[in-house]
Amino acid sequence: MSAHVASVRTTCPYCALQCAMVVEHSDGAYRAGAAAGSDGSAGELCMKGFSAGETLAHPERLLAPLVRRDGRLCEATWDEALDHAAEGFRTVAARSGADAVAAFGSGALTNEKAYAFGKFARLALWTANFDYNGRFCMSSAAAAANRAFGVDRGLPFPLTWLREADVLFVAGGNPLETMPPLERYLGAQRATGASIVVDPRATSFARSATLHLQAAPGTDAALAYGLLHVLVAERLVDDAYVALRTRGFADVRRTAQREHRERAERRIGVPAESIRRGARLLAAGKRTIVLTAGASSSIATARMRRAPTSTWRSRSAYRAARGAATGRSRARATAKAAGSTAKIGPVAGVFVRRR
Ligand code: SF4
Repeated sequence: MSAHVASVRTTCPYCALQCAMVVEHSDGAYRAGAAAGSDGSAGELCMKGFSAGETLAHPERLLAPLVRRDGRLCEATWDEALDHAAEGFRTVAARSGADAVAAFGSGALTNEKAYAFGKFARLALWTANFDYNGRFCMSSAAAAANRAFGVDRGLPFPLTWLREADVLFVAGGNPLETMPPLERYLGAQRATGASIVVDPRATSFARSATLHLQAAPGTDAALAYGLLHVLVAERLVDDAYVALRTRGFADVRRTAQREHRERAERRIGVPAESIRRGARLLAAGKRTIVLTAGASSSIATARMRRAPTSTWRSRSAYRAARGAATGRSRARATAKAAGSTAKIGPVAGVFVRRR
């Protein structure tokens, strides 16, 4: 008699692409597979998605709380662990005030969990110190997007539009490794259009671009001003468009003028000629898409040499590819991937252009 198989259709929990997946449970094991019929991921998962189910029944998965006793972590009941934590909160708050306790959440929480956690921090702990891991990247990107476009991030167009872009500008992203299913769209775009990648690292994605602007870390704003300076200086700005849809452009233009090409070259380490070429490429596009920071994805679970840039439709294909990787290449990939975090942001901007 065959084992009962329970399955649920869901989304991959690992990165912002949220590929559609089906998780099956039978004989105590969980298996994640690609879900057919999805728009964005088109029935594909990367190796992170395919390995998602393995953590659920992993023998080292933590299933009970651990409380430190005499210097050793010991298994405890939930009641014991919760009493222990509450006593710790009470002791610190009594000694140093409620704000001496901080609560730190995660961008991986669902909206509901984040809401409940916020209530817990403010109403149970009475602390003003409540933060989460996205403060440095997500919050700054959200503030910038709100100021620039009036909305927080989020991809405001279907992924299929990426194929149609005749110029694609990606700043701070390495989607071939962090979101491999995007390759079907990025590859199609590269086949017919131009691409500009801003990245301090010469990733395979950056190397495959029409133009790689290898700006030094922390100089992306200087590079943006350098590009804008060229657009303004060469009269490539669509003044009517800017007048109709933007505010404060005169201020931006003044700042950009201070960042002339040579100065930008000194500050960011990109040749002035490359900055000029980038600006002209941007201005030449009829359908230009700009993707910047906003969603982050780690490839810390990578275990295969070719895995970061690969996707599979079926679990058997994934297994076969995984089995082909040698132990050595897996170790090398793991070490490399563990320290590798890249971002791509679903923020679309419209670069000014003159027709
Ligand atoms: S790209 Fe990979 S990690 Fe991201 S949602 Fe899809 S399967 Fe998951």
